[in-house]
Amino acid sequence: MIREPLIFEISGKGKQAFSLPPLDVPQKKNLLSDVPLRRNIEGFPQVSEVEVVRHFTRLSKTNYCVDEGFYPLGSCTMKYNPKINEKVASRPEFGGTHPFSPSPLVQGNLEILKRTEELLAEITGMEAISLQPSAGAHGELLGMMLIRARQEDKGDPRKIVLIPDSAHGTNPSSAHVCGYKVHEIKSNEDGKVDLEDLSQNMNEDVAGLMITNPNTLGIFESDIKKICEIVHSKGGYVYMDGANMNALLGICKPGDMNVDIIHLNLHKTFSTPHGGGGPGSGPLGVTQELEPYLPSPVIQRKGRKLFWDFDRPQSIGKIRSFYGNFLVVIKALAYILILGHDGLKAVSEGAVLNSNFVRKNLEDIYEVKYKTPTLHECVFSDKYQKDRGVSNIDIAKRLLDYSVHSPTVSFPLVVHGALMTEPTETESRRDLDAFIQAMRKIDQEAKENSDLLKQAPHIPYVRRLDETRAARKPVLRWKKESQET
Ligand SMILES: *Cc1c(COP(=O)(O)O)cnc(C)c1O
Repeated sequence: MIREPLIFEISGKGKQAFSLPPLDVPQKKNLLSDVPLRRNIEGFPQVSEVEVVRHFTRLSKTNYCVDEGFYPLGSCTMKYNPKINEKVASRPEFGGTHPFSPSPLVQGNLEILKRTEELLAEITGMEAISLQPSAGAHGELLGMMLIRARQEDKGDPRKIVLIPDSAHGTNPSSAHVCGYKVHEIKSNEDGKVDLEDLSQNMNEDVAGLMITNPNTLGIFESDIKKICEIVHSKGGYVYMDGANMNALLGICKPGDMNVDIIHLNLHKTFSTPHGGGGPGSGPLGVTQELEPYLPSPVIQRKGRKLFWDFDRPQSIGKIRSFYGNFLVVIKALAYILILGHDGLKAVSEGAVLNSNFVRKNLEDIYEVKYKTPTLHECVFSDKYQKDRGVSNIDIAKRLLDYSVHSPTVSFPLVVHGALMTEPTETESRRDLDAFIQAMRKIDQEAKENSDLLKQAPHIPYVRRLDETRAARKPVLRWKKESQET
């Protein structure tokens, strides 16, 4: 395989990407001498235009992306996002708006934001939405801050937040950052919250519960109303992590389940490509009771006019600059309006159907620990392959040889050797079949030639990286094959 050199290695003194005709006027020097430009950067690569273009094009081809193939990364909802939404969001009128523009001049933009809030309120069944948080975890933190503010107003912020053992890692982190102790609630043998354990641990020291529904096993918490009742009866609030809303759109509303707060991930459910830390949006929905605490400002209507309302005495303040990631919101609005109620419902039905198609075609050879029906994702494990010395990591790495991104591995922690698989609604029957076939082939290989798996991947640009060091101390220069990192 040809290894792409670093751009510094392509560099050669005096090469550049442009050539200008000779001067036909007297030359003047140092015209920009008082401008703080960066000059003479030591070791800065000198390359021609064609070298730059080819170098980066070749590098880009070594990247796997959702526009290229299937990306079954569980809990991430890595679906294909229609390009029309990007097109709408990239209109210069939107990108060119200065965030400090006075509201009378940007009524259209405010209408977009307000309209999105109203539609998200409708979809979730919540009273009010804030678009300020930049991501799911940011929404969680805001949710915890609202619970703290409300509990404080009632006389005691309380000390503990309950979180089921199947929760996403960001849940305990958010509660912790907000100054709460986290107490873990057990799952029962169905993979749902154990009501017994919850009742026993719910008391007046507990500020609230954070629950993901459907949970990270892809299982719907069918006792959610009972769960809310238990938490509410002791004065707690229920925070629903709504990152898995891709399973529920148009089918049921968290507001009807009696949860008090929910965050959405627009960059998962509502059409923004994600990964690599790119712009996200984690809108928060709340009940009437918690609405006064929402971050400031909020958008209000007065007649036909929209304005920023900063007069919010109970607000927890601001949690980020301006009002969230505007262009991500535009994409979500375009997506919702194009699909409408029936279309959104079809999204979730398709996601659930595809996931169950994969599950049914693989559960005879990959263990599914909990027998409970699942919605949009399902967690396989390496239990049946383990006795041949093959682990979930080997399976995930071998999938790369079959041109499929690997599922989420070793999460949730309640399933040992987990392979958490979420196909999403945008995969065709053909792609699902190819994935199933690859997974079945890998199981076969585990029986016949487990070394092949343990040394996988064989085809991609890099083999097995040191998962800790590769991120912290990347070695970018190609040396001998044996020294790859
Ligand atoms: C993705 C995810 C989060 C965190 O969302 P970010 O936008 O990555 O911060 C939280 N909970 C669940 C269940 C998720 O899948």
